[in-house]
Amino acid sequence: MKFAQLASNLDEMEATSSRNELVRILSDVYGACSVDELEPITYLIQGRLAPFFEPVEIGLGERLLITAIAAAYDAPKDEVSKLNRQTGDLGVTAQRLAPASQRESPSVVEVHRRLSEIAGAGGAGSLQQKVDGFASLLGALDSTSAKHLVRMTLGKMRLGIGDPTVLDALSFAKRGDRSLRPVLEAAYNRTSDLGLIAQTLWEAGEPGLDALKVRAGHPIRPQLAERLPNPEAVIKKLGMVGVQPKYDGLRVQVHKNGDRVSIFSRRLESMTEMFPELVVAASKLRAESVILDGEAIAYNPDSEEYVPFQETTARRRKEDIEEFADRTPMRAFVFDVMFRDGSDLTQVPYERRFEIVQALLQKSDTLLTAPLMKTDSAEVLTRELLDNISRGLEGVVVKRMDSTYQAGARNFNWVKLKRNTSGQLNDTIDVVLLGYYRGKGKRAEFGAGALLAGVYDSDKDEFVTISKLGTGLSDQGWRDIHQRLASLEVAEKPSRVSSNFVPDIWLEPAIVVEVLADEITPSPRHTAGMAADRTGFALRFPRIVSLRTDDKKPEDATSVREIREMFEQQRQPGRGRPG
Ligand code: ATP
Repeated sequence: MKFAQLASNLDEMEATSSRNELVRILSDVYGACSVDELEPITYLIQGRLAPFFEPVEIGLGERLLITAIAAAYDAPKDEVSKLNRQTGDLGVTAQRLAPASQRESPSVVEVHRRLSEIAGAGGAGSLQQKVDGFASLLGALDSTSAKHLVRMTLGKMRLGIGDPTVLDALSFAKRGDRSLRPVLEAAYNRTSDLGLIAQTLWEAGEPGLDALKVRAGHPIRPQLAERLPNPEAVIKKLGMVGVQPKYDGLRVQVHKNGDRVSIFSRRLESMTEMFPELVVAASKLRAESVILDGEAIAYNPDSEEYVPFQETTARRRKEDIEEFADRTPMRAFVFDVMFRDGSDLTQVPYERRFEIVQALLQKSDTLLTAPLMKTDSAEVLTRELLDNISRGLEGVVVKRMDSTYQAGARNFNWVKLKRNTSGQLNDTIDVVLLGYYRGKGKRAEFGAGALLAGVYDSDKDEFVTISKLGTGLSDQGWRDIHQRLASLEVAEKPSRVSSNFVPDIWLEPAIVVEVLADEITPSPRHTAGMAADRTGFALRFPRIVSLRTDDKKPEDATSVREIREMFEQQRQPGRGRPG
């Protein structure tokens, strides 16, 4: 496939506001692909060269791209910058300067190869090499191709092709309907690599997908926890359970494969560089290969205290990492093992997996086993919950001892119980920002009035509205958030957003914000949970608690199903303070 062909399909996707249409166009693209094109196309349409968990970056930010665009089209840099300020989209800027057509277009595979070469350039003089390589690639492209190439390089596709959309499109391309989605999804939960899945489906069909197993070095989609209103409800539903403290840190998946250690976040992005102390500890584990699941948290050796989540994620820049590792080293409380020495352990009962964790970590003082106690008494569970809260922890996570590790699932194998203030919701909700209103008076100064926020409908791969947010941020907080929003503004409602509200500015769904609300109420206008015969849901008195951009993708926001469950739990008698 020529890159120009893919670019013209991407234009069609950009123009549609219907998700079904998005799936159809993408499935046509897959239908027209040869096997060797499946991986490059799958990564490129999400603004990547490799799966998300591989830290392959092209390494050309906006400033260098402006230099490359200027060189490619023989235009003064100032003019490119000026045009860019007018268009607000570097892709469109390149499109305006590029020739409308070219006699020949390079193939998709060729473009992917050249971008990978640019990504691979390192050492002295590599920046110039990158800029030259990119300018020469741009020089071979027509205007539509140039627009999409620049967006791919920035990782800002503005198309909203989420993982479920890719899975649906693959199913349609092979079967003409969505029926392959469960098999595709299961393979995705085990390997997190959409390109590999596409290629396997073409080469080895459904049995090939079933044969794709968990492997060290490839992150598994994490098992997630359900909610129940109180300890009594937990014991009633689950009987005998294992109880662990709920640490307020950062979810980490630690992989050791021979000499190679990799660490992945909850979003399945590589964090290996960020946590050198965990890498050292993992490399000492006595196992050839292993995958562990745990919560990493910064520890202050002077005060002998754990440091809150916000500080745990503060080590961003390379220069800071060593200093942080020294001052507040990371520890990880490991609560699970999914793979050891070539064997997939996800189907082994938790009781046994936990024993393996204990045996593996015996000698480490950086990778610690999360303590676990067993009980079938609501009284004991309540005591444990209150005890953990009084020690400054978030609450507890309760686990079924006979459960398997269900990658990517949120179910009652795990239940989280948190601090519970009577009259309020049990838990915070993670919403995605979908648009904003310009606001009046003081707010207008900051550039944003109320924010339109939504949750995720995973069945439809759609973002549906649930609330407008106007409180919880300081003046500086509003300024910061507006700055982040600027690069996400889009002219039309994105195809994956379903809304009855029309904000002044639409946003590409990207930013996840944690909010606290008093209650979930029925709503005739919000689309969260809305169906032909049912009203939607809204949040009563929502206020912003924190930004969750570091560890959550928009698809990791609270789901419609969870909102419905929380709504139903609100109405159950006996909710309120634990105990
Ligand atoms: P929250 O926003 O409440 O942290 P979440 O949406 O990030 O939740 P959930 O699955 O709802 O994820 O809650 C489980 C999270 O709690 C895990 O992702 C993990 O990061 C954290 N956690 C802390 N301690 C434990 C533990 N002992 N066992 C499992 N998860 C734990």
